[in-house]
Amino acid sequence: MTDPILELRDLEVHFNTFDGRAEVINGVDLTVEEGETVAIVGESGCGKSVTAETVMGMLPQPPGEIVNGELYYRDEELLGDETAHERVKTESLGMIFQDPMTSLSPVFTVGEMMRDVMTYQNKTNVGWLEIFRNIVGRRDVSEADMHDRCIELLDRLQIPDPEGILDRYPIELSGGMRQRVLIAMAMLGEPEFLIADEPTTALDVTVQDQILDLLSEQVKREDLSMLYITHNLGVARRIADRIYVMYAGEIAEVGSCEDILDEPLHPYSRGLVDSVPKLTEFDREGIEGLIPNYTEPPSGCRFHPRCPAAVAGECDVTRPPRFELADGREVACLLYEDGLSPAAANEIAATEADTNRGSGTTHGRSSGPRESDESIESLTQRMEDANE
Ligand code: SF4
Repeated sequence: MTDPILELRDLEVHFNTFDGRAEVINGVDLTVEEGETVAIVGESGCGKSVTAETVMGMLPQPPGEIVNGELYYRDEELLGDETAHERVKTESLGMIFQDPMTSLSPVFTVGEMMRDVMTYQNKTNVGWLEIFRNIVGRRDVSEADMHDRCIELLDRLQIPDPEGILDRYPIELSGGMRQRVLIAMAMLGEPEFLIADEPTTALDVTVQDQILDLLSEQVKREDLSMLYITHNLGVARRIADRIYVMYAGEIAEVGSCEDILDEPLHPYSRGLVDSVPKLTEFDREGIEGLIPNYTEPPSGCRFHPRCPAAVAGECDVTRPPRFELADGREVACLLYEDGLSPAAANEIAATEADTNRGSGTTHGRSSGPRESDESIESLTQRMEDANE
């Protein structure tokens, strides 16, 4: 590992809505090392895209408001300096959007859009005179150079007949082709950091596989760093070096792909992994309930109303910090407060979940923290006694 290329510290983002002030992002810390691909995973509405938009400087303000936090790109703070953020965005960042059909303009051809990206890249301020010069063909970059660059990129993304594609409108292309065009457009500015916001969500699995291969190839070839947003754990395993599991605007767990997916520690991560449909297994527990209402987020641990291992009087009162474990793993769960081993904490969680299930549940699942006098400390003590 080298120095972080991107670092987000204690980010808080609120939204003003008709229902009140929604506290959507609540203290997110995140780092991406140079050359690393980091995935943020979590269910829809957990704040992944808001985090990506904040990094990219595309958060709509209003209704959004960055209440707190720092964003460092190569040690330069961006959230407090709009000019610096705009410069880094245009010179160093590239974004691949979620839905190519709505991200590409239906009234321009692929070639026209790609030429526009090249014309205006690295420019933070474009005046009417410059726009007029470009319209009448007096661009700074020659048409021939732009054409060659477009063909080179479309070719690299294995788009058949790149010459012909330049004259096509997005509606004339398949979903996979449109997504390849979007990746090519993100690469036009020669970024060193890519932000990919669920770029394969709208595609079928075989095309998804091809797009992931192409994206990995580009990242490797250009030595890029990448922040990849997805709700799909299989995609995260394919593409990422490390995973941040996000729940309700907070980071629940951080670790390598193998650690998180093979041995998830946080009760939310366990539920998320358990929710993945398997061809050979039909009886899965998953996670009951929904992401909380951000205008009235739960006290203490935001996951406690859905957590099968929640302890009343602890989890609904105290917000868990991120506890550092071995090998760079971090878990924001009170079960790990006393430096318990993952095995011991897992056993406590399993005991709590069993007890919760047996004490007034809906469909055999807990609907909130168990009403119990037994605190995590006493459970920990029990485990330590048992270990001795
Ligand atoms: S055990 Fe408590 S702190 Fe840990 S995830 Fe569940 S509710 Fe949150």
